[in-house]
Amino acid sequence: MTVAPPNTYRAGPDERGHFGLFGGRFVAETLMPLILDLEIAWNEAKTDPAFQAELTHLNAHYTGRPSALYFAERLTEHCREAAAAAGGKGGAKIYFKRDELNHTGSHKINNCLGQILLARRMGKTRIIAETGAGQHGVAAATVAARFGFPCHVYMGATDVERQKPNVFRMKLLGAEVHPVTSGAGTLKDAMNEALRDWVTNVESTYYIIGTAAGPHPYPELVRDFQSVIGKEVREQMMAAEGRLPDVLVAAVGGGSNAIGLFHPFLDDTDVEIYGVEAGGHGLEGEEHCASLNAGRPGVLHGNRTYLLQDDDGQILEGHSISAGLDYPGVGPEHSWLHDSGRVTYVPITDTEALDAFQTCTRLEGIIPALEPSHALAQVLKIAPTLAQDKIICMNMCGRGDKDVFTVGKIMGYEL
Ligand SMILES: *Cc1c(COP(=O)(O)O)cnc(C)c1O
Repeated sequence: MTVAPPNTYRAGPDERGHFGLFGGRFVAETLMPLILDLEIAWNEAKTDPAFQAELTHLNAHYTGRPSALYFAERLTEHCREAAAAAGGKGGAKIYFKRDELNHTGSHKINNCLGQILLARRMGKTRIIAETGAGQHGVAAATVAARFGFPCHVYMGATDVERQKPNVFRMKLLGAEVHPVTSGAGTLKDAMNEALRDWVTNVESTYYIIGTAAGPHPYPELVRDFQSVIGKEVREQMMAAEGRLPDVLVAAVGGGSNAIGLFHPFLDDTDVEIYGVEAGGHGLEGEEHCASLNAGRPGVLHGNRTYLLQDDDGQILEGHSISAGLDYPGVGPEHSWLHDSGRVTYVPITDTEALDAFQTCTRLEGIIPALEPSHALAQVLKIAPTLAQDKIICMNMCGRGDKDVFTVGKIMGYEL
């Protein structure tokens, strides 16, 4: 591993888990020894060639990495026509990083494989996870099945009702799904309950957190497992274009796929970076999930970060058409990248995402998940404004199979 030079955007977190003012580990005292154990195990694993070799092997043969880098020719042409219609000459080249082709249909598996190897290395015998839409629950249940661990997934009762196909997938994979009725019965409550389970079963249990949030060292280790995305893009873009992209775009829920794409490029300051938050029905009301654009710093789930909260500091629920983007917080590294100005975070509304979903499906024959449809909407906004020799790379972090029911309902199809 190379040591990052000073004044780098890639050096964080510090030894206490801080990215500037954000991150840290705000956990119950009983959890502290575990968190420290995890940190030691992670520090050993990340420099252990055998650990990295096994992960690389699984990434290749189980997940299907490297995922393709794809030139979206017809979307590029579409943006050039839009630019020409407005009297311009723009229309940057649009590339997709095809992480939706991974086993289980999204980037979540990159992180789950890394963490299950860590759990085995630590001698743990039981896996717990939280899930909102169920994508992380399915990925966690998948690796638990593959490695023979009992797996307990906490899921808000409201989400259990809304996401029945994923609940059944988890059960098929042998996981026990625990509906959580506290609060609004959504992801935030599921994460609280998973942390409670962890405190109670400290010795036996490994908690696979699904995004680049939670107490240190989770934001760092999830980022490092997901950084395979950005590392591959660097190599693939050099092979395809002989240079790095000009612009990167990714959707931000908790921020794991985004930081995975961004992190290897943070010190290439010529590369412009956009993180796309769920703008829901717009930022004026409370029907959105734009923690960075409309929240303020506070503490949730073991770290300090931007959060959606009311005047009394109560955490708000948030809304998005895409279940994977409605986490009321965001990983602490994104809060720091936001405040430092290295990454620009923008909101995209439900309607804009839905339009992009349909455009991509029709023009590229790729049905994207609603989460990356947000990123794509941002791509479609900026591509026509950039010269034709500019290159945009967007992370297509999930496939849309899971979303056809939601989209069908909005379009008036009964499925
Ligand atoms: C879970 C999920 C997200 C949101 O999680 P991040 O940690 O922000 O990446 C985005 N897209 C898809 C397809 C997901 O499954």
